[in-house]
Amino acid sequence: GLKRDRFVGTSAQEVLHSVFGYPDFRSLQTQAVEHVMHGQDVLVLMPTGGGKSICYQIPALCRAGMGLVISPLIALMDDQVASLRQVGINAAALHSELDADEASAVQADITSGRLDILYVSPERLLSPATLERLARQKLSLIAIDEAHCISAWGHEFRPEYRALAALPQHFPGVPRIALTATADQRTRDDILAALGMPHAAVLVSSFHRPNLSVTALPKGSETAQLLAALEKHRNEACIVYCGSRARTERIAAALRTKGYAALAYHAGLSALEKRAALLRFRSGEPLIIVATIAFGMGIDRPDVRAVIHLDMPASPEAYYQQIGRAGRDGLPSDTLLLYGGDDMARARHWLEMSTAPDTEKRIMRSRLEAMIAFTETTSCRTTALLHCFGETLPEPCGHCDNCLHPVLTFDGTQAARKFLSTVYRTGQRYGVLHIINVLRGKQTEAVDRNNHEKLSVWGIGKDKTELFWRSVSRQLIARGALKTEGQYSGLVLHPDVARPILRGEETVHLRADTTAELEKAISNRN
Ligand code: ADP
Ligand code: ZN
Repeated sequence: GLKRDRFVGTSAQEVLHSVFGYPDFRSLQTQAVEHVMHGQDVLVLMPTGGGKSICYQIPALCRAGMGLVISPLIALMDDQVASLRQVGINAAALHSELDADEASAVQADITSGRLDILYVSPERLLSPATLERLARQKLSLIAIDEAHCISAWGHEFRPEYRALAALPQHFPGVPRIALTATADQRTRDDILAALGMPHAAVLVSSFHRPNLSVTALPKGSETAQLLAALEKHRNEACIVYCGSRARTERIAAALRTKGYAALAYHAGLSALEKRAALLRFRSGEPLIIVATIAFGMGIDRPDVRAVIHLDMPASPEAYYQQIGRAGRDGLPSDTLLLYGGDDMARARHWLEMSTAPDTEKRIMRSRLEAMIAFTETTSCRTTALLHCFGETLPEPCGHCDNCLHPVLTFDGTQAARKFLSTVYRTGQRYGVLHIINVLRGKQTEAVDRNNHEKLSVWGIGKDKTELFWRSVSRQLIARGALKTEGQYSGLVLHPDVARPILRGEETVHLRADTTAELEKAISNRN
């Protein structure tokens, strides 16, 4: 058979040509490969479809030893192994779905020293038997795929990833390359800290997907909105995301009665049903998958023309990843998010009721609030979304709903100043509800305890409803003037953004959300 290390001494570029058949590296791939070739640790942040696998597959081949790839997803591992084998690479996967015979065949492969690349799930890797077997092998590198799973900030936290902190003890001197499509700063810092690689090179590619048009609309008549959005995609592949299993079934059935090929997909299906649905989806036929988030990582159909959310995702990261499943082929594709106050209240409620540890709840809460803030954005949506990932677009995208149809707004400068002043005067540590109570002069126990009825801001927002103030607060969060912090999600000013507003140096246009404001905005326009 083929000997391991047969590519040692061959250039990365040459392996890219001869093994993978690609003419050139994409820009970030070159840098990632170079770092790993030099034995340095790297963190690669690239959107889904950006080409992360090449970043570790090439150096795994060009360096002496076996490449070890840690992945949380069995289906993804099997896919990768199959495609590597097709191009003549000796790859195998070790995970919990192998039967005893299959597992011992892989173990024999490892011991034989012939494997070019081994994919392994974290729990399998960290079993004493596997560690011992691997310790006797030379490793070319360790790749940690879906590295955001290590972060408790992440929307896909996997406790077993935490144990990967011990990798350098087990495999000293082996370069590590962590890869993820989740790019916000907190996750990034958390990955570096949790893996113990503070000096890793951090390579970030743009998350801008110019072929995706981003639209978010208040939920009205849901089914009518869905049908209208799908009309243009009659014979195409689409994904509709819903918050619950029952809803996926109901919506899929409703779409079928309208003549669409539609299938529900959720974690409650049998393994066989899931596989059948995936096969149909991958076959290329026109099909609408109505799914919960269980329909997730590892979907690789390039021509998905629309991703529609009937319920609000729990975080901008999850949202970005889900809409990112549209238009992988680079052709124009639509995304639509339907949001409603009910959704938001329900999401907040479930979060409060959740039995998750407080640290996790805090994280989930701040992500949820960022997601809510996104829906409130009156300016370019693409810009707002990329902003969540620390990226700045030089100019508005020109094709999101807010760019195409400027939003009805009202002059909210006074309201914004009142709100920000109240946050400031109460010491920047209270949540939205308390701030609103102070603004509206509502006597509560907390007001009493803190003597907040003595403040100059007490009752200055009496003339407006709680709903109005909630909308103002969400929009101030959206524009970055306020953020939530700490155990109790206290509102805190962002001085650079809030100061000009407080000083009256900046006019604040707010989205007209409440009926009263909408009516005013319309009558002003006429
Ligand atoms: P990710 O893991 O970032 O989602 P993949 O590694 O699966 O992305 O790659 C996405 C697609 O891009 C694959 O179809 C892959 O074959 C292709 N690809 C990756 N690198 C290159 C390259 N340098 N040139 C051409 N195609 C590439
Ligand atoms: Zn835009």
